[in-house]
Amino acid sequence: EEKLLSRLKKLPAITRDGINIGLQANLELPRELEMAMDAGAEGVGLLRTEFLYMNRDDLPDEEEQYKTLVELIQGLDGRPITARTLDVGADKLAYSLAAHLGGGINPALGLRAIRLSLRERSLLETQLAAMIRAGAHGPLRILLPMISTLIEIRQVREVLDKVVRRLHRRRIKIADPLPPIGVMIEVPGAALSADAFAQIVDFFAIGTNDLTMYTLAIDRGEEQVAHLYNPLHPAVLRLIQFATEAALRARIPVSVCGEIAGDPRYTPLLLGLGIRELSMASTALPRVKQRIRDLDLVAATRCASTIMDQSDPGRIAALLDDFNTLA
Ligand code: PEP
Ligand code: MG
Repeated sequence: EEKLLSRLKKLPAITRDGINIGLQANLELPRELEMAMDAGAEGVGLLRTEFLYMNRDDLPDEEEQYKTLVELIQGLDGRPITARTLDVGADKLAYSLAAHLGGGINPALGLRAIRLSLRERSLLETQLAAMIRAGAHGPLRILLPMISTLIEIRQVREVLDKVVRRLHRRRIKIADPLPPIGVMIEVPGAALSADAFAQIVDFFAIGTNDLTMYTLAIDRGEEQVAHLYNPLHPAVLRLIQFATEAALRARIPVSVCGEIAGDPRYTPLLLGLGIRELSMASTALPRVKQRIRDLDLVAATRCASTIMDQSDPGRIAALLDDFNTLA
């Protein structure tokens, strides 16, 4: 087993019929980078930046964030990194922000992620400044969490313009051209607005964890309703399909970075829906790669199309299981 996994590391993630799939790693802490490289990740598809704010009383300044990003970029040795702006709230709390928020609770439908960044603009300015400076050292993309309306994207661009002007005045080097700006598709309203979003952003990252939660109104962390949490619900799949097709139509990159990206059971379905980039926990990489290498994309596409005709989540799971045991 161990040998198989280490052999896999050097092999390409290519389907039996020759389609290359991009496999990147999700990182929650910088020190996970080594493991990601060991697992054969082609880059960091999702850097969750919450760690910068955890277990401390003060806020990380631009310099600290810049240095942290540059170290990661150097460790990546030319491979790309997608850095997401702060995504606190709901399941993710940061102590250093508790004061900012008045210590109040921060529910799933409340002031979280990009909403918090747009209210506490200095948080966003600091993050964007660090990111566009770090982007001068290697391929970096900026990802915005929990976007639900076009207006938020425009507002972030305004903040970015301001940050760029300020850094120019200070004669500080920044990425040129500026890093691509992408959005998480993790709110149903965002998925349904994907055509419009695709016109003004550079890439999509589909966050199936939150997309499932918000589509089905099932709290990710709520045990009492955990049995109802199901990414195979046809409503969730339709949103994934809709957003993916919008990205393909607009010719912008689209990836899936929720937990299902790291579950080989879902690989045929996601590829069958048109996804060609996955980002996942490093530990999941080898098995997903193995699944891709065993997969015939034509057959997977047919399976996905059959699944998309179904309305019963149980039947969808059964069809996917059948496909996985046979192909
Ligand atoms: C998601 O919601 O699917 C996602 C990738 O983001 P996070 O798990 O960090 O909320
Ligand atoms: Mg999310």
